[in-house]
Amino acid sequence: MDKIKLIDQYDRHLNYLRVSITDRCNLQCMYCVPQDLITRLSHEDILTYEEILHIVTIGISLGVTKVRVTGGEPLVRKGVYEFLAELTRIPGLLDVSLTTNGIYLKDNAEKIRSAGINRINISLDTLNPQKYKQITGKDTFDQVWQGIQTAQDMGFTPIKLNVVALDGVNDDELVEMAKLSFAYPFHVRFIEYMPIGQSRMGNGPLLLAPEIKKRISALGNLVPVQNSKNDGPAKRYRFEGGRGEIGFIPALSQHFCDKCNRLRLTASGKLRPCLLSDHQEDIKGPLRSGCSDQELAEIFLKTVDHKPSDHNLASHHLVRVCGEMRAIGG
Ligand code: SAM
Repeated sequence: MDKIKLIDQYDRHLNYLRVSITDRCNLQCMYCVPQDLITRLSHEDILTYEEILHIVTIGISLGVTKVRVTGGEPLVRKGVYEFLAELTRIPGLLDVSLTTNGIYLKDNAEKIRSAGINRINISLDTLNPQKYKQITGKDTFDQVWQGIQTAQDMGFTPIKLNVVALDGVNDDELVEMAKLSFAYPFHVRFIEYMPIGQSRMGNGPLLLAPEIKKRISALGNLVPVQNSKNDGPAKRYRFEGGRGEIGFIPALSQHFCDKCNRLRLTASGKLRPCLLSDHQEDIKGPLRSGCSDQELAEIFLKTVDHKPSDHNLASHHLVRVCGEMRAIGG
């Protein structure tokens, strides 16, 4: 029986919770960090692991079945591997996955696997170590690439590589990135840049999915792959003869709000109905002041009531969204 109670006014079933466990990151990606001073949450402002597990359990009682752990960079938070193991053990949670920049992957893939995680998303915007440094501020391309190889050797599947497509920055590499899906079973996913917070890149440079698709089509015929029930918003394809897949996350050009099944829990303990709208409900305050599980469940329901039909960028094209990706969770 479907126990989901998280159904919004547009009849979307919200069974997927993205959890940002930290606002800290060991990279400073040009499209993610704000142009002015980076403000950091204090230790007390961040949800403890126990609090996160409690909130996830409430979500599960309302029908959440899928959680993705993100950040900031989740692997920089102390105790993350033990946390992941506890998370995957919660009854009722059918799918737990992780998004990482891959810097700590090589040395910790085993721990992630032992914690019960099989699916992993890794951010990689370029195959050029110098450009990697230019985009992220760190000279860690080799480390990340080795991490990706280790994850593959250990049998993580699928391994999704997230590429934020930026005109004038990595647009000359789209074809090379797409080629990875021939050499490896990776899912190479091109993400449209979203203007969020005070990112250094402002409102551009936009490179939208139809253009990316056109450019990489030089490699062959892109055959659509049927989305499965629990799939995210990626539009999936496969090159004929390819081992992996190609995906597009067209947050702006063909936004997927009508199919959105997500809620977000921020590192500071706010529930958000949408990454790209500013509404959020505080759940940390009530939790810390000892409110009941029923009251916490009501905060989930209130958040769901505020889920917009579509996000600000879709309805008002290129209005900026407040908050920072690293704190909300990408
Ligand atoms: N540190 C982890 C990582 O690098 O994957 C998880 C957090 S990161 C914020 C999650 C994803 O959001 C990354 O793939 C990143 O490239 C993407 N991202 C960050 N800012 C973005 C933006 N403004 N537009 C589109 N994607 C963005």
